[in-house]
Amino acid sequence: MFTTLFLTSLALSVAASPLPAPVPLPEPHLNQLVARQDIQSPINASLPNVTIFATGGTIASQGTSNTQTVGYSVGLGVQQLVDAVPEILNISNIRGYQIANVGSPSINQTILLRLAQTITEELARDDIAGVVVTHGTDTLEETAYFLDLAVNTTKPIIVVGAMRPATALSADGPLNLLQAVTLAASPNAVGRGAMITLNDRIGSAYYTTKNSANSLDTFYSTEMGQLGFFINQVPYFYYEPAVPIGKVHFDLTGAESLPLINILYSHQDMDPQLFNSSVEDGAEGLVVAGSGAGSLSGVAYIAAEAVYNETGIPIVSSHRSPDGFVPASPDEFIIASGFLNPQKARILLQLALQAGFDVDSIRDLFALGYPPP
Ligand code: ASP
Repeated sequence: MFTTLFLTSLALSVAASPLPAPVPLPEPHLNQLVARQDIQSPINASLPNVTIFATGGTIASQGTSNTQTVGYSVGLGVQQLVDAVPEILNISNIRGYQIANVGSPSINQTILLRLAQTITEELARDDIAGVVVTHGTDTLEETAYFLDLAVNTTKPIIVVGAMRPATALSADGPLNLLQAVTLAASPNAVGRGAMITLNDRIGSAYYTTKNSANSLDTFYSTEMGQLGFFINQVPYFYYEPAVPIGKVHFDLTGAESLPLINILYSHQDMDPQLFNSSVEDGAEGLVVAGSGAGSLSGVAYIAAEAVYNETGIPIVSSHRSPDGFVPASPDEFIIASGFLNPQKARILLQLALQAGFDVDSIRDLFALGYPPP
């Protein structure tokens, strides 16, 4: 079982001259860390301080025309993101760090550890109200959930992206960034864990997922709902701060790497060899995106059990359906993910293994998310 000033000036320049050429990343190593560029806005002592950690993604991308919405190139830096929305500086003083500048499928554990450790240090400063992470949307929910578990703070951590590049007609990045900074600076956002905001919605990093590969209205959690909504760029929350059941924190101080965890996707005729090959390639844990409530074909199931019996590595059963629950299994080798989707189950398993949990403790850890009534 398993942008507005920037856009205005871009729009004006559209009529007068061609759009600026996209800035390609050095190929082929898209996942390399770029040189860190720190920025600091002028300080207005009456405003809170928010720090932006930029990692790339569509929000930092440019196309070759204002109608291009796929196939554009990432390359805008944190200073350009902030320059595009001068209204941000009416809300908070901004510090900025360029942590990476990549498409989010290339976000890796080196970047994640750097983000978690730098954000932990930043939020330990009394003068910082909250932080914003700008990120590609494809794996945004993974980074947001990772930070939710790896940074122990009550201050807001807001992860934000965009579905249209900065050069597009009706680009969504600038308003999303304005809202993210507003949220990070808001006292009402304290104690709610890491959050994801795009397209006016405010959702928990714990449960929010990307639902559409293309549309602007893609980030939400169907069953667990949203935390709040922006009206005229003011965040309104529906509830008092609440913590998801079973949420734990991991201390990554000094961590230099994380164990390899692979996700195997269940489907008709799934190759049962994938379990073995994955472990031979060094996986220290596996997550199965099972069909239905975590089902696998008979042969795949036998292969999974054999791998467990041989290696003892934890195998977590999640669901390939966007929503759902995988209940605890009578089969000892299967750890049920509960409500966590495969990509979030992978983060929890990775952090648990990094912290030294054994299989039984990992089973108990996942079960914290669905305690008996
Ligand atoms: N390819 C982009 C990414 O970095 C998609 C996006 O940001 O919307 O995830």
